[in-house]
Amino acid sequence: MSSLGKGIASASIGFLLKKLGYEVTIQKLDPYLNVDPGTMSPFQHGEVFVTDDGAETDLDLGHYERFLDISLNKRSNHTAGQVYDTIIQNERRGVYLGKTVQVIPHITNEIKRRITSLDNKADIVITEIGGTIGDIESLPFIETIRQFRLTYGAKHCFFIHLTLVPYIAVAGESKTKPTQHSVIKLREIGIQPDMLICRTSTRLTKEMIKKISLFTNVFDENVIEGRDTSCIYDIPILYYEQGVHNIICDYFDIPTTDISFDKLKEYTAKFTNPSRTITIALCGKYVRHQDAYKSIVESLVHAGVDFSTRVNIKSIDTDKLFPKDKVVDDEELQNILKDVDGILIPGGFGVRGIEGKIEIVNYARKHNIPFFGICLGMQCAVIEFARTEFGYKDANSAEFDPETTHPVIDLMPDQKDIEDMGGTMRLGAYPCVLKKDSLAYSIYDTDKISERHRHRYEFNNEYRKKFEEKGMMISGVSPDNHLVEIVEIPDHPFFIGVQFHPEFKSRLEHSHPIFHNFIKAALAYNAKQKTSES
Ligand code: GLN
Repeated sequence: MSSLGKGIASASIGFLLKKLGYEVTIQKLDPYLNVDPGTMSPFQHGEVFVTDDGAETDLDLGHYERFLDISLNKRSNHTAGQVYDTIIQNERRGVYLGKTVQVIPHITNEIKRRITSLDNKADIVITEIGGTIGDIESLPFIETIRQFRLTYGAKHCFFIHLTLVPYIAVAGESKTKPTQHSVIKLREIGIQPDMLICRTSTRLTKEMIKKISLFTNVFDENVIEGRDTSCIYDIPILYYEQGVHNIICDYFDIPTTDISFDKLKEYTAKFTNPSRTITIALCGKYVRHQDAYKSIVESLVHAGVDFSTRVNIKSIDTDKLFPKDKVVDDEELQNILKDVDGILIPGGFGVRGIEGKIEIVNYARKHNIPFFGICLGMQCAVIEFARTEFGYKDANSAEFDPETTHPVIDLMPDQKDIEDMGGTMRLGAYPCVLKKDSLAYSIYDTDKISERHRHRYEFNNEYRKKFEEKGMMISGVSPDNHLVEIVEIPDHPFFIGVQFHPEFKSRLEHSHPIFHNFIKAALAYNAKQKTSES
């Protein structure tokens, strides 16, 4: 079922196989019928992850990229909706010459085509199937992988099933029944799993493993304990210690060796026993959903580990705290933000919570608190600056106030005639040129970068000069100088707003340079606060 950690389990197995020297790639098949995961609500589904080629995908792709340190593309995420859409369009075009169009073979062949077209250079392809065994939606996917083994041969296909072993507090014991029944369901569809990863909050005893093995027909050494960890990056180590890599390699009859985990162990030790702690305010409207800012949270973890620092996240629900028309006063903000060492405003859509975010930018600026604005966060920084420094009281983004006399954030002129909203979104990787002698340049240590985008509105070029005259530096632009990508305030210890989403490029083994420097600035702020207190 969902939320058990299939994505992290798949990514961890990929991590191990990659460490053994294999070229690994990975994809997610989602049984829901939405054609476009980009339109799904972050409240329900968590973050929308964006790839270099501009695909809006399931957040599990973020785990894959972070663990495996590879860049995926649109072929790495498919929904049932997309599969059905292809088949129905084919049918409309007469491709099937009047034959009956059916789940088997048409839908299943299309799924097979999508699995095999992922990457023909990779040694190993990991295909994660979302959903729950026994659900109607996932049936065509499970049926496809059953056929897959038949088509490509048993030795080319290894089935791993992730199950739950719940701890029943009143009985004081963990139960293997749900695992047994889940495997019964799977075998009904014709799949005998080769390995089980049993998610559990306690230890699996030898007896439990034997019992699971007996009832599920899986060798007991292939019953793996997937116990809860405080750090997700411990999971590859846990799997390694149980020989997951050897079991898979032996099955495929490919070489396996020892892997050194010294670096990863040092990493997770810094996460688990950090030498310092700081607090970052994450100010957004989706903070109630714990996965809505997944990549940002992980980017903060990666950057924190660089400094052996735990990054506490103080979630500030801008929608709830700052309802429409509420006047926000400084004292209230002071109360909310008094113990934070840095302020991050993430991306988002729609007007809710905007006025509060603008006030928060103002507070960060006045009180010299490190500030990092991402996409919508950058746009809020631009609006705040125009209101405070130019006295444009109604300065706004045309997204939030189409009638504003000062649309400092607006659609570009060529976007305004496009009627299909989907067509106006800037998606995926775009190059950006950095100004020398800027904070951005010192962060990236190069003048050409590429970052991923997902937004519709842009900095309005008509106001560029005015902003620069008043002290906001435009430090990153598109190579044709047409689009503003980064703004900063040199007269502040750390104030940066970026039109793109750097969180999509932070990796377990390489934190993102902006996050790295943001945490560094927050540590400096924290140290300064402590000295002034004592
Ligand atoms: N809503 C804003 C836009 O469309 C920002 C989007 C975002 O933060 N990803 O431009």
